[in-house]
Amino acid sequence: MKGRILYIEDNEQNLYLITYLLEKNGYEVFQACDGPEGVEAAVLHKPDMILLDIQLSSMDGHAVARALRTNPDMILIPIVAVTSYAMVGDRDKTISAGCSGIIEKPINPDTFMAQIEEYLLRGVTLTE
Ligand code: MN
Repeated sequence: MKGRILYIEDNEQNLYLITYLLEKNGYEVFQACDGPEGVEAAVLHKPDMILLDIQLSSMDGHAVARALRTNPDMILIPIVAVTSYAMVGDRDKTISAGCSGIIEKPINPDTFMAQIEEYLLRGVTLTE
């Protein structure tokens, strides 16, 4: 097992595809379908990385990132937004909410794992 990753996502297809890619590459994956469930799962599992959809129903990804970053245990965990909202203004909002970076949707299955591994190596520091 290479690492433990929590994926917070409300779209079943994305949840399926990304979980499949991660598990095939040796990662353990925890899934959460909405923000509150995601925050709870993060506290419970203390994953090595959190992948976070931004467009979520009850509590959006920015609110989730902010909530996570208020917990001292969550300060050093890379939180990577997986989102189609990747324009410059969206990026700024996402980063200032506490995310370490962004992977654009639709993801490219050929390069996705390299992006994940880079963020895991890089940790929370944003070097973009
Ligand atoms: Mn969504």
